[in-house]
Formats: sequence, C-alpha cells, structure tokens
Amino acid sequence: MKPLFLILAGVTAQTEKLRVIAFGAHPDDCDIRAAGTARLFASMGHAVKFVSVTNGDVGHHEMHGPALAQRRAAEAKESARRLGIEYEVLDNHDGKLLPTLDVREEIIRQIRKWNADIVLAPRPNDYHPDHRYTGVLIQDAAYMVVVPSLVPEVPALRKNPVFLYYEDNFQRPNPFRPDIAVSIDSVIDAKIDSLDAHVSQFYEWLPWVDGRLSEVPKDPAGRKAWLKRTRTRQINPTVRASLLKWYGSEKGNATQYYEAFEVCEYGAQPNEARIRQLFPMLK
Ligand SMILES: [Zn+2]
Repeated sequence: MKPLFLILAGVTAQTEKLRVIAFGAHPDDCDIRAAGTARLFASMGHAVKFVSVTNGDVGHHEMHGPALAQRRAAEAKESARRLGIEYEVLDNHDGKLLPTLDVREEIIRQIRKWNADIVLAPRPNDYHPDHRYTGVLIQDAAYMVVVPSLVPEVPALRKNPVFLYYEDNFQRPNPFRPDIAVSIDSVIDAKIDSLDAHVSQFYEWLPWVDGRLSEVPKDPAGRKAWLKRTRTRQINPTVRASLLKWYGSEKGNATQYYEAFEVCEYGAQPNEARIRQLFPMLK
C-alpha cells in the first residue's frame, strides 16, 4: 500500500489547484501587470481573480461618474472573459482611495473568501496615490487575514498566503527586485487581448493624458499591434538573471515577454521549492 499512497500523494501535489487573487487600484491595473501570468494559471486549471479596489470613475477626459464606472466594469468583465478568470470591481471612488479600516476589511474579506494561496499587489511607493494606498491596504491585510476575531463573519485563513508585488520602475526607497520572472511568450497575444478590452483606457484616456491620442490606430488589428509595441518592456539584466534562474539557459535567454514579481516580507515566505509549486509554469 505504501508505494500506491506515495504515488497518489505525488499526483495530489502535482494537481494542487492554486488560488490566486490580484489587486489593482483601477480596472486595468491587474491586467497591465499580471494578465499573462493569470492566463497561464487559468490555462493550467488554477483559479484567478482580479480585484479593482476603485471603480475607475475619474479615469477619462470626456466622461466621469457612474457612466464611466459602468463602462469600465463592463471592460473588466470582458477582459476576464478573454483571460478565463474572475474580475470584481469594488465601489470605491477613483482618485480618492484612502487606507481606511473599512477598505482594509473589504480586502481581508476578499482574500479570505478566495482562500488565496497567492496575493498580488502594487508596491506602496508608486506615483499614483490610489496605487500606493492599494499597496498599503494589502500590506495591512497581510497578517490580519489569519486573525479570527477580526471580520469574524468570514472565517480566517489557517495559513497565510504568499504576498507578491508587481513590477514598477520606482527607485526610492528601493528598486523593485524580480524574485520571480514568468515567461509569457506563449500568452502575449492573450495579454494584449485583455488590455484591448479596456477601450476607454488604452485607446482613449491614457493616450490623451500622454498627448498621443492621434497615434492610436483606428483599425482593430493595428490597435493590438500598437499595444504590443508600446505596452511591453525591454528585459533588463536583473530580470534576465531571474528568467535564467527559473527557466535555465535555453528558455531563459529566448524569452521576449515577461511579468515579474517581488516577494513581500509579510505573509508566508516561500523557498525556491515552494515558489516552483506556486508557479507551476516555471519550467
Ligand atoms: Zn491605475
């Protein structure tokens, strides 16, 4: 019986269904930083949920308020459909997010209800106050998700998830560290499709803010090619080193598109073997 048990235990370990929850301040933030990784998880049968902590109701130059919030919720839903994941938009106002106790408890509820193994969030030193406070809110929840007497209506988690930060370019107080780099070459078009669902952002608001509205192609295929060109990053040496560590020299050197994550000091601290269990695409 013992060998059989070991085989079954091995199968169980390999088919562990992972539960990933990603937080962004606005309905498109998770997509920018993690849509490729989300698509890889989903295609392997794992469960992914994106949560926008605000409803995005000021992110446009021609519309705002409930009409914009409704439009962006529909875009998020379409992005989720294309990725094969869930998406929820919380009803906090865009541009006005604060790390209050109420919102912290909303975050705790979300992480507990999803029974998350992995939680993704922005670092708390981003340029945008909503991004920054989303980072703070998730940090503030990182220990509290295991405290049963807090938010008692949703059972506390018995094990703390691994908390990871998205990549950014901010250097102070410390630059982003790519502890994990995921090759997304096989799903880059799915990622572009998810961004393409956020029409109000990638083809209207963000180019308008940058003074580049006239550069946006009019035809659907041209738009996606333009997104792929302008919304992907060059691989810097620290990211390349991380890709080589996780994938070995052949795939590590060949990778063109990636998403990277930094392990937060709060929450569970995974060793290399645990990271490979949590990110089964790293091979
Ligand atoms: Zn944002």
